[in-house]
Amino acid sequence: MTRQTREYWRPAAAGRSISSREGKKAMAEVLLTADAARSLVDSVDAFLFDCDGVIWKGDELIEGVPETLELLRKMGKKIVFVTNNSRKSRKQYSKKFKALGLDVTEEEIFTSSFAAAMFLKLNNFSPEKKVYVVGEDGILEELKLAGFECFGGPEDGKKNIMLEANFYFDHDKSVGAVIVGLDQYFNYYKMQYASLCIRENPGCLFIATNRDPTGHMTPAQEWPGAGTMVAAVSCSVQKEPIVVGKPSSFLMDFLLKSYNLETSRMCMVGDRLDTDILFGQNTGCKTLLVMSGVTTLPELQSASNTVHPDLYTNSVYDLVHLLES
Ligand SMILES: [Mg+2]
Repeated sequence: MTRQTREYWRPAAAGRSISSREGKKAMAEVLLTADAARSLVDSVDAFLFDCDGVIWKGDELIEGVPETLELLRKMGKKIVFVTNNSRKSRKQYSKKFKALGLDVTEEEIFTSSFAAAMFLKLNNFSPEKKVYVVGEDGILEELKLAGFECFGGPEDGKKNIMLEANFYFDHDKSVGAVIVGLDQYFNYYKMQYASLCIRENPGCLFIATNRDPTGHMTPAQEWPGAGTMVAAVSCSVQKEPIVVGKPSSFLMDFLLKSYNLETSRMCMVGDRLDTDILFGQNTGCKTLLVMSGVTTLPELQSASNTVHPDLYTNSVYDLVHLLES
């Protein structure tokens, strides 16, 4: 596959240390103990939490989350939520946190939908151009808040294609970017629309919110993640997307603008090795894997696994048990 050749965002070199994956020594992760938990909280000023599989599963809060957040806040730690799930905007996520009884402000939430809008802003995306969205309301809302004209999303989920002789599919030539994220309304119409824009509109950007293969969209089971929709479009256009969510360190730039912190004084807490833990490592954070989401202990300890967090434990609630023991 060919890569997009134009240079867009690159991690800021100065002001923070970014440890490369190659630079990270292959080492076995350590089970979180009382001593390790105390040493962790002493060595960091901020905790970055993934949401799905760490804070909640679908719409169900994971046990002990309120107590854990309360304890860390009491200890003076900053709390930030970094999620790859693009279905909601920061405003919508803040409502979800409130509905689950957690007091979290929009400023504490960094989503891949927000990252996609900020990517366009940072790269001076022309206001004359439009954005086509394969995804849900979260992306559309963040794009509109950032002042961009966009269309697609759930609305196009109702559209069908009949593959008949002489059928010609028209598309808007003023689309300058296609954003692909998790989309429960994904269909053949959207695949074709996105493909035509990327293939035929000169300079059209192909942006992926994230490439998670699966996720706990409901508490009962795993579902195909945004990566499956991205792969479909990527295969059609034979091009790799620009990824703005985890494990890309793009979101960290916005985080660092909001909080005056060193990445070495942050801990990324997540349930996915290939997104959360890699994001933490790519940006120089300490990393804690929790087993309350998609990763199992056999997967973590498998010989084929190449991503090793600094620490691992069952769930965030263990921090409370261990710190108060
Ligand atoms: Mg997760």
